[in-house]
Amino acid sequence: MAITLFDNSSLFWRYAVFQKINAKAFYDYSDSHKIYNTMILHIPHSKHVVPEGYRELFVLSDIALQKELLLLVDWYTDELFDGFDAVTFQYPRLLVDVERFPEDEDEPMSKVGMGMIYTRTSDGERLKRDLTVQEISVLISLYDSHHQALNDAVGHELETYGQAMLVDCHSFPSEPLRCDLNQKRPRPDFCIGTDAFHTPKDLADSLILKVQEWGYTVVENEPYEGTLVPSDYYQSNTNVRSIMIEVNRALYMDEHSGLKLESFSIIQLLIQELLFVIHQYSDRRLCR
Ligand SMILES: [Zn+2]
Repeated sequence: MAITLFDNSSLFWRYAVFQKINAKAFYDYSDSHKIYNTMILHIPHSKHVVPEGYRELFVLSDIALQKELLLLVDWYTDELFDGFDAVTFQYPRLLVDVERFPEDEDEPMSKVGMGMIYTRTSDGERLKRDLTVQEISVLISLYDSHHQALNDAVGHELETYGQAMLVDCHSFPSEPLRCDLNQKRPRPDFCIGTDAFHTPKDLADSLILKVQEWGYTVVENEPYEGTLVPSDYYQSNTNVRSIMIEVNRALYMDEHSGLKLESFSIIQLLIQELLFVIHQYSDRRLCR
């Protein structure tokens, strides 16, 4: 597969965008079943192209950088999770990771050089050169803009519908990375990440049941735990709900080449069904 590492376009100042995508795909919504925008997908790790202006921040060779991207990018998650409004980070997580806490003391992965701005690879090698204050502030502005878009999206849902449902969309490698806190093997096919304050237990149970019905293994909060909640509402507003879906990459791609497997469309279909379960849950609450 020819993976494009570097984007020669001049669009690298794009910030995270709030993409409006119409509900579609595998379900035939009639006019009598109105689609409420009570669900927002968060897709933080799907992008792999390092824009030209940022390549020189990395000390890795092209081959080593490509290998690291193969390990860390949540490949194709913007295709697997499709059909609803999404806030998608437009840069690779190797530049700045919007899923990490901004302060190192709050972020356990900062201990291995993988806090908000990674300094180390997943193998513990040096990833970036020393950055200037200005370069760091540019990366922080990418992070802040993304979180502003997320907070705004959730705020809009709250204002309009009195509730918001966030779905944190990820995939993970089939073998634990050296940096991973959870080294347990074998890894499940799916992981549902929950938060005691923001995730309804009956919703998590419904998703787990659905995955099992399809014949796949699933574990709650393993190998990764929790789910992202926008900072404005974290632990303070129970009308903001959040749940994480993580899918094992071996189910849908060749992890060495980056190529999609034939099973990609099956996994896409299952994920669409999981999203539909979450959407129905939100819709039911709204109609009460
Ligand atoms: Zn991820």
